[in-house]
Amino acid sequence: MKSFTKHLSIKTKEKMEMINITSQVEQAVRESGIKEGLCLVNSMHITSSVFVNDEESGLKQDFLDWLEKLAPYNVEKYRHNLTGEDNAHAHLKRTIMGREAVVAITEGRLDFGPWEQIFYGEFDGQRNKRVLIKVIGE
Ligand code: ZN
Repeated sequence: MKSFTKHLSIKTKEKMEMINITSQVEQAVRESGIKEGLCLVNSMHITSSVFVNDEESGLKQDFLDWLEKLAPYNVEKYRHNLTGEDNAHAHLKRTIMGREAVVAITEGRLDFGPWEQIFYGEFDGQRNKRVLIKVIGE
């Protein structure tokens, strides 16, 4: 079995932002040379997510609006922020949207269902973050 590891560096312009990283993951799969296997993609931070959904600008804004209702940015609201941080909302949003995506590789390509794309969801951005891509297989 072969394995291949790559890190993406991401620094968003906005504090909260959703970025389509499908083409970078496809590039990593090509670089790996693996034809049959699995591709794991995960955020290496507890205030950002990796998830699979549809590339549609209305939907991305719907996610952000929904998350803001569930876990609003409000420094006074959370016990975590008593430590001097202001990002409790981002920890909660990350947990809702998930840490990672795993996609099968078939005949050298990401084997998606209809409309599936891989996104990086940032909830405490404007600083350097990393995404891990790990490809395993034959
Ligand atoms: Zn924190």
